[in-house]
Amino acid sequence: MAEDRPAIPEPIKREVRQQCCFGCAICGMPFFQYDHIEEYADVQEHTADNLVLLCPNHHSAKTTNKLSKERIKAAKKQPFNSTRPHTSGFQVEPSQELLTLLGNNVVSGWYPNGNGDHHPVWINGKSYFTIHSDEGWLSVSLQVTNVRGDILLALVRGELMVATGNWDYVYEGENIKVRAGLGDIILDMNLSDTKVEILRGMFLDRTIDGYVIKDDTLITLCEGQPRGWDIGCSAHANGFGGWGLLNKKTSPDVQTPSGFGFFRSF
Ligand SMILES: [Zn+2]
Repeated sequence: MAEDRPAIPEPIKREVRQQCCFGCAICGMPFFQYDHIEEYADVQEHTADNLVLLCPNHHSAKTTNKLSKERIKAAKKQPFNSTRPHTSGFQVEPSQELLTLLGNNVVSGWYPNGNGDHHPVWINGKSYFTIHSDEGWLSVSLQVTNVRGDILLALVRGELMVATGNWDYVYEGENIKVRAGLGDIILDMNLSDTKVEILRGMFLDRTIDGYVIKDDTLITLCEGQPRGWDIGCSAHANGFGGWGLLNKKTSPDVQTPSGFGFFRSF
């Protein structure tokens, strides 16, 4: 019976995630469940070769016999995301309230029914984190990077996409983790329609200007060197931006908008 079934061991789940490139084998969506291609009741074991990632839609189609095992077996051999640099999208819905945390630094407030963009993270003329308000409905665009400035994961007006070159990615409950190797968490964030909380992660450009978040702290880097530490700060979303950084040496032509909560230039 299903209740007596042991849980799928974590190393096997990770192998399946890697085989399926972090998305549904059929459509690539980075919100997925683990499906036994041949029923567990028949095979009585968990093996990576008999497991596949399916989004809730395609999982339901399979369990109700609208989607054949043959199609899924073919998709497992060549998953949708396998030839793409990033997964297809999972849409996080807009919300009228959004809790935004960078470590324990908070972006607070928003004019109700407002329109326009606020930029919690802005680096050398480019927004790495934007809150869009459309008649008071808030959606998020952001891109988090590794230490070299490669994008690990992006949101585009709420549409979540994950780089397929990552070593591992999970989205369980509201928590996302991206790992660069066993035990090496490079992104730890909570994401839902009402929350963007970055516990650990980076926003860095190619010159390694930007921000690293860890241990509740937002650390400002200029050309890879730590130059500022923010803990427990609050930036009001009615201004242009939250945290801004300008490297005048590498970006001499960038005009800085006014209205940041915290701005550093070097
Ligand atoms: Zn799917």
